Amino acid sequence: MKIALFPGSFDPFTNGHADIVQRGLQLFDRIIISIGHNSKKKRYLPIEKMIGHVRDTYATNDRIEVITYDELTAELAIRYKANYLLRGLRNTTDFEYENSIAQVNRHLNPNLETVFLITSPQYAHINSSIIREVHRYGGDVNEFLPYTI
Ligand code: ADP
Repeated sequence: MKIALFPGSFDPFTNGHADIVQRGLQLFDRIIISIGHNSKKKRYLPIEKMIGHVRDTYATNDRIEVITYDELTAELAIRYKANYLLRGLRNTTDFEYENSIAQVNRHLNPNLETVFLITSPQYAHINSSIIREVHRYGGDVNEFLPYTI
């Protein structure tokens, strides 16, 4: 059984993330969307709210699980018997960052392979931090999300 973690801040979880999940389902038997308490980032949307929205989005799909976590991703993978980390790549900025965390994660857990999917062009511009800014000033962001806030 191929189990992948899809870890991220997901603040918020967007249509870009949903596209990675949908395509990941063609590669993996199970995907565990893992919403992290990122030590460097203070959340905008409460993690309890986000887990509710993402669980509702995938309520009918028994191959997807949604959890929150506050530990090393490499250790979370061991607990969930996941051999794969799923991540999305939008551009070279993502690549620089993803390259270093993938190296560290493999060092921490040699059985963990990071698999990158290149973003579909129609979602490449979707960026959680811009969505937060728009929402903060009262703009409608629902067209970027697979649920409504
Ligand atoms: P993190 O804080 O761990 O980078 P994010 O929630 O920002 O968490 O992103 C989680 C993953 O989703 C990352 O691999 C990121 O590159 C990817 N991602 C973010 N936005 C998009 C998008 N629009 N399309 C595809 N992948 C994306």
